Amino acid sequence: MATIISGKEVAAELRQQIKIEVQNLKNRGITPTLAVILVGDDPASKVYVRNKSNACNEVGIAYEEYTLPTETPENQLIDLVQTLNQSPHVHGILIQSPLPAGLDFKKVLEILSPEKDVDAFHPYNVGKIMIGDYEFLPCTPAGVMELIHKTGVEVTGKNCVVIGRSNIVGKPQAMLLLKENGTVTICHSKTKNLKEITRQADILIVAIGKGEFVTGDMVKPGAVVIDVGMNRNAEGKLVGDVNFAQVEPVAGYITPVPGGVGPMTITMLLKNTVKAAELSEKKCNGSLKL
Ligand code: NAP
Repeated sequence: MATIISGKEVAAELRQQIKIEVQNLKNRGITPTLAVILVGDDPASKVYVRNKSNACNEVGIAYEEYTLPTETPENQLIDLVQTLNQSPHVHGILIQSPLPAGLDFKKVLEILSPEKDVDAFHPYNVGKIMIGDYEFLPCTPAGVMELIHKTGVEVTGKNCVVIGRSNIVGKPQAMLLLKENGTVTICHSKTKNLKEITRQADILIVAIGKGEFVTGDMVKPGAVVIDVGMNRNAEGKLVGDVNFAQVEPVAGYITPVPGGVGPMTITMLLKNTVKAAELSEKKCNGSLKL
């Protein structure tokens, strides 16, 4: 029977810490502030944005929301990003994706100031992650690392397998495991003999977006299994990419869905916002050149 890693509990502990850091900044006259840009009325995006707002309120981060209509011209969105880049009281900026058709997320992202890029999606920050010298970590992979640390299992020297190679999860996840001296294999939809590879994994991270894809026979006994996936099954129930009922008796540690990686993602966004505020403080004090 595996030990369940509760992302809910780890996130709650981290938020207590973040609350203290926010208060310390406020005591020094700085209110960490996150600006979120939401374009259009995608229902899922509205829910994500509301969750971010609630999380900011919980820890005392000031939250500003900029809601633009679906038909917003690209230059108007770019103007807003540039204004927020220049705005000294805003420390973090997040552009909620997906953007409506006709707006180029990549182009808008490149306008964003890297030092306010709390999602760590700007190519500059992606490059920093690649060389292992970063200010901001992408929220989901960073949350996964926190959960692995919580198990007490050392990454050094372990076989780490990441299934999924997206820019927001799989690729940066592999870099973070590599930085901690894991021996990392990245698998994707064209990988041959997937089961043979996953069965070698001491640490298995699954981020593919296919409900209950990873079965018990794909997992090495005692492995740490982290399930990033969020899918609705035929009954409308939220399930991960891992078949929990089959894998839990085999694994050493496993994250549930819900209550695993999910609560960590927003928590890491809060952490990045505090970091951005601290960086701006250092910059103002002249002790940091960005
Ligand atoms: P994505 O951009 O769709 O990427 C999926 C990856 O999985 C791709 O690299 C794809 O390979 C690979 N893949 C698909 N089918 C596969 C198969 N049969 N065998 C091996 N690899 C396969 O997805 P994502 O944005 O990384 O998200 C993945 C999942 O995590 C989704 O369920 C998403 O909702 C969830 N998620 C959760 C959080 C959270 O906070 N909990 C955050 C982000 C994402 P190719 O590259 O070859 O196509």
